[in-house]
Amino acid sequence: MSGGDKLDFEIRPNPAPVSAADRAALLANPGFGRIFTDHMVTIRYADGKGWYDARVEARAPIPMDPAAAVLHYAQEIFEGLKAYRTADGGVTMFRPEANAARFAASAQRMAMPALPPEAFVDSLHRLIEIDREWIPTDPDGSLYLRPFMFASEVFLGVRPANEYLYVAIASPVGSYFSGGVKPVSVWVSPDYTRAAPGGTGAAKCGGNYAASLVAQAEAIEHGCDQVVFLDAVERRFVDELGGMNVFFVYDDGTVVTPPLTGTILPGITRESVLMLAAEAGKRVEERPVSFADWQEDAASGRLREVFACGTAAVITPIGQVKFPDGEFLIGGGEPGRLTMALRQQLADIQRGNAPDPHGWVTRV
Ligand code: PMP
Repeated sequence: MSGGDKLDFEIRPNPAPVSAADRAALLANPGFGRIFTDHMVTIRYADGKGWYDARVEARAPIPMDPAAAVLHYAQEIFEGLKAYRTADGGVTMFRPEANAARFAASAQRMAMPALPPEAFVDSLHRLIEIDREWIPTDPDGSLYLRPFMFASEVFLGVRPANEYLYVAIASPVGSYFSGGVKPVSVWVSPDYTRAAPGGTGAAKCGGNYAASLVAQAEAIEHGCDQVVFLDAVERRFVDELGGMNVFFVYDDGTVVTPPLTGTILPGITRESVLMLAAEAGKRVEERPVSFADWQEDAASGRLREVFACGTAAVITPIGQVKFPDGEFLIGGGEPGRLTMALRQQLADIQRGNAPDPHGWVTRV
């Protein structure tokens, strides 16, 4: 592709798709990220040539040279968003242009070429169109879309690669946390941080997640669902969870979330929640929240609700907080009213059951 931002996709349907009966059996209990649709999108990039060979083809392993740069220096970025089945049998995607913009920003940070946002969104339309039957009809189900891109150049020098492969795959999913919507518990990591100023915290690159796994494993050892990362400089302020942003709701109705200072992922759910809460008449603030204040305000009762938000978990109440010196509950461990109202409102917009004044929903 040179010149315009539109790619022509060659469609090569999977000659041996999963049978309707087998698909129905898989969709009955999809779990999260375990089963995949029949197709994938691939687009290649080479310096001097630009983006080329855009295809929709059978999902299959990707042959890779052992010296492919990504296997050594981790030049890799990804995105995550969902397609939903609507009550009238249609299909929606939630703010795919926002994911396209974040993908381009992540590419820039990782010294990778930016896929034109139009090609990103187009690739998802193509994948959903061909694998539409894989979207769960269950009201909590959705089709999780995973676009990603990595350095495919065969070269061991440390420099930005000059060849890349963009791929989009799709996975039917149920609820992210097993057990449906119930408050989750979080572990505040005393030892590990996620991102330092000037680092890659605002980019959605695989390396950030590799670095978070040991902290997440520690959370699980302590009986918690997710890890909370504190800032890397003072170890005082709450950054975010392993895969979600965090919000605090106070007794005067104020809704607070940590600011985008480069160390947290700019979540699309986060931005949407900020808008919905402001429109509901709440005072919203993007400001640092210290863990000391979190404990103190939970003890005094001033802090009423805490929730996590992201594509996978939508909005999920945080009921219990554990750290090396103790533990405490939020709202008695029960889901908060505003948390659940925002969750319902967002889910209704995403699934086409509510007005969409911001034009967030794309019909496929
Ligand atoms: N933070 C991290 C580290 C994440 O991985 C995610 C999931 N993409 C989020 C926050 C939430 O982002 P979004 O609302 O765009 O899914």
